[in-house]
Amino acid sequence: MSSSTLTHEIGHYFGLDHPHKYWRIKLKQEPVSRTRTIRGSNIKMCERKGDGLCDTPAEPNLSRYTDDKCHYTGWNVKDKYGEVYKPVTNNIMSYPKNRECRNNFTNGQIAVMLETASRNKYAKAWSTQSENAKNFDFDYYEPDDAREIASEIFFNTPQTHTFHLICTGKKKADLIDHIDWLYFNLNTTKKQDITISISESKYPLTDIKISVFSISGIISESNISSGSKLKIIKLNNIKSGKYLIKVEQVTTKEELTGYKINVVK
Ligand SMILES: [Zn+2]
Repeated sequence: MSSSTLTHEIGHYFGLDHPHKYWRIKLKQEPVSRTRTIRGSNIKMCERKGDGLCDTPAEPNLSRYTDDKCHYTGWNVKDKYGEVYKPVTNNIMSYPKNRECRNNFTNGQIAVMLETASRNKYAKAWSTQSENAKNFDFDYYEPDDAREIASEIFFNTPQTHTFHLICTGKKKADLIDHIDWLYFNLNTTKKQDITISISESKYPLTDIKISVFSISGIISESNISSGSKLKIIKLNNIKSGKYLIKVEQVTTKEELTGYKINVVK
């Protein structure tokens, strides 16, 4: 299965049609012209025919009119008004012979998907304005739940992380993500002092345990208790190399919390 197939199907779920919809049925066919209007009105036909979007060109079913290299081959195929089709071959909702050609949604398609999502019965829960949505505040740096998939933090570039709910798809089985792994690379010729600061983000700090590892083992371990505003961890005289930071939420409370972390040299 092509990598674009799931995206295509999600496009349908969010209200998109195939740009070539009804292209074989003359009565319903979308014209190539973007300005042709429905007789007796000033409504553009491209807004009503095909997929109903004027920013996706009218097209025949591309599976017969494209090659493996994503070139359009239907140079002589015309709409019922005699205009030659000029489609693109990269639209996710089209049917190019090679499905790997598909990598684009137009602005019109994105607008339709957002509009459909806003009408979904769960739309409120997704909204960033919603109280309920805050429990699902996503951590941009995830996944980083294990040492092997630690996310990189750069010097003097603070990151905000959350201990957030992980939706498991089962009603009562939402898990909370309790552990984050981060790493930084220190490139230095002589030993250096590094400071790690952890402070509250838009969420207050809870009980957190922080461990720092060098390649040879643990070099620092400390705790932050809930209600604290800031914790400074100093690593003195450390040499060049990769360092791992494990941030672990020490609580059984299933509530969303977070922290801001900065590594300074
Ligand atoms: Zn489809």
